[in-house]
Amino acid sequence: MLYLLSRLVVLAATLLSWGAAPAQTLKVTLLGTGAPIPRFDRFGPSILVQAGPATLLFDCGRGATQRLWQLKIPLGAVQTVFFTHLHSDHVVGFPDLWLTGWLPTPFGGRAVPLQVLGPTGTVAMLAALQQAYAWDLRVRSTQDVPAPSSALAARDITQGVVYEQAGVKVTAFAVAHGEHLQPALGYRVDYAGRSVLLSGDTGFSENLIRFGQGVDVVVHEVAAATQELLQQSETAKQIVSYHTQPEEAGKVFTRIHPRLAVYSHIVLLSTTPNLPPPGAEVLVPRTRTTYAGPLELGEDLMTIEIGERITVTRFPPSGIR
Ligand SMILES: [Zn+2]
Repeated sequence: MLYLLSRLVVLAATLLSWGAAPAQTLKVTLLGTGAPIPRFDRFGPSILVQAGPATLLFDCGRGATQRLWQLKIPLGAVQTVFFTHLHSDHVVGFPDLWLTGWLPTPFGGRAVPLQVLGPTGTVAMLAALQQAYAWDLRVRSTQDVPAPSSALAARDITQGVVYEQAGVKVTAFAVAHGEHLQPALGYRVDYAGRSVLLSGDTGFSENLIRFGQGVDVVVHEVAAATQELLQQSETAKQIVSYHTQPEEAGKVFTRIHPRLAVYSHIVLLSTTPNLPPPGAEVLVPRTRTTYAGPLELGEDLMTIEIGERITVTRFPPSGIR
């Protein structure tokens, strides 16, 4: 049994190296571009950033683990998780990443504590999760699977530089996700002269524009509802106000002027069965009323490699489902 486990760990280590980004390239992969709707083509919000030796995950929505393994990246390869905020659609995949990631298998393989950074409330949430999964943690902790593999190193953070290792710098900044939904953060990752800004969940935010100055790529959330729905539903109006509509996002992109803007966390709103949501095809034309620069409508497993050139690659659609 021990021999078999050690072979599996070697295989996992090999797979860990496959997932790494080439040196000096900042690679962003949209693991999940959806919202709370449990659909197959857009999983919950989660973005993988690979920068030199660092493998970082921003949010861990539904299905983040399946998307990682579709790319043959073992869950144990993720070294640090950053939460933008604690809305369930952004964190519900975390127990899976954490608890499946420390199994000594090709798809797991974590041997050290998992670092988790997020806004105030993160440490408390993770302590409660450790209690909730106490039985599993206890019975799986054996000689073959040492306990440190399952440990969490959590930290509540606020605006500022929150991570600086091996030339990779992550800066958190406050965003505007509605006064009752604070704290909420966005992140900027800088590595080897390249950079990406991740909006998290936010309405139009001057602070985000300030932190986005000079950034190569902006990955921004977006929300849209039909006029009919907005006229009929106060709830819909309220939800849209916590998010950014395409015309507002266009203004953000125009002010930041990135080399590329990308939509992810795509909220297409419907609060009543008789009023269906708008299609995603409305997003780009509506953005074009305020922004003329490069823009991509994100989809699950899209990769954006930021080097001298920016290369966008879509996962073969047949491979997603
Ligand atoms: Zn939210």
